[in-house]
Amino acid sequence: MIDRATLAARDAADPLAPFRDRFTLPEGVIYLDGNSLGALPRATPERVAQVVTQEWGTSLIRAWNAHGWIDLAQRVGEKIGRLIGAAPGSTIVADSTSINLFKLLGAALAARPGRHTILTETGNFPTDLYVADGLTRLLGRGHQVRAVDDPVVALDDDVAVLMLTHVNYRTGAMHDMASISRAAHAVGALVLWDLSHSVGAVPLALAADGADLAVGCGYKFLNGGPGAPAFLSVSPALQADLRLPITGWLGHAAPFDFAPDFRPAGGVAAAVVGTPPVLSLAALEVGVDLMLEAPMPALREKSLRLGESFLALMDALPGFVPITPRDTTRASQVAFRHPDGYAIMQALIARGVIGDFRAPDILRFGLAPLYLRHVEVWDAVAALRDIMRSGAWQDAAFQHRQAVT
Ligand SMILES: *Cc1c(COP(=O)(O)O)cnc(C)c1O
Repeated sequence: MIDRATLAARDAADPLAPFRDRFTLPEGVIYLDGNSLGALPRATPERVAQVVTQEWGTSLIRAWNAHGWIDLAQRVGEKIGRLIGAAPGSTIVADSTSINLFKLLGAALAARPGRHTILTETGNFPTDLYVADGLTRLLGRGHQVRAVDDPVVALDDDVAVLMLTHVNYRTGAMHDMASISRAAHAVGALVLWDLSHSVGAVPLALAADGADLAVGCGYKFLNGGPGAPAFLSVSPALQADLRLPITGWLGHAAPFDFAPDFRPAGGVAAAVVGTPPVLSLAALEVGVDLMLEAPMPALREKSLRLGESFLALMDALPGFVPITPRDTTRASQVAFRHPDGYAIMQALIARGVIGDFRAPDILRFGLAPLYLRHVEVWDAVAALRDIMRSGAWQDAAFQHRQAVT
């Protein structure tokens, strides 16, 4: 059985330990929700203040060129491209993950004329399903979304694009990108990966694994701040004839010609669409730079160990059913079912242990290896044990479900 001293020794030997001080985390909090909203990098407030007061405040509109705002979506996108193992020149920052899904699903359907199906899995993140559904209803012409439990066996020659979330948001289980991409290609379909719970959390090699299209979040493991802009990536082979369903002026080959007709910028640049959110992009870049400093093999190793300790310690707590894989198909979170999960999570949060609850009965704990300590896993499970033993979760204050937690 693991004890606290063993975990403290792991912290003492942890090559990533210095990254903890690069974040601002409140005293008395164990933060296990970095998979939903990443923590605040220490350098972010100063960088954002600099962009506001110096770049915007003194350069005004000249800042688009003087401070490189005009290239920010490409510059930060290129850095994210390195994190996800995409080919150079295939990744940009733009819009939200939901909007980018719409853009790339539309482009995928345009690239596979004669095929009508977007294939996905039943347990996918709701926005992915909703966006796909809205797009097919807009297109009509027999387009459809098929959501099934095992999409790989459902692949056929009507599938234009297989849309999957690489790491499941509930269970933390990870798909095998290479073999699934191969299976999609074998029937002539494209594959679109949602990397929202993967980027910054697990090793990714989009180009090597044959991913055609990808989207992902900036505010989760990338620590880009609330509502940070998202990214999208298009493999070089698809860039030449990329027909996006949203054609905006900043995706034009020459936006400042103000021509009446749309002519797409070369490659993925067309997907910028409109004016990028410069302040949010500046904050995101700080988070991405920090992530690029940390070696992914060390992050992965630590994240697996954090999860392993969490699962092992929870085995001694009756009533919690783990839904996270114990093997290396686990990404960087652990989750458990419990019929009183909501109230229990509220009681935990009141104790300063911040995880989250996902309906109907799931307690979810994100394990961000950049700033989490091994002993915090011990302390979090100890707090949970205490809450169960004392019955503190039965307090009336924890029973009433709020819209946002
Ligand atoms: C978090 C998340 C999103 C979020 O989409 P937004 O447009 O940023 O709200 C989308 N897909 C998945 C799989 C996610 O985990």
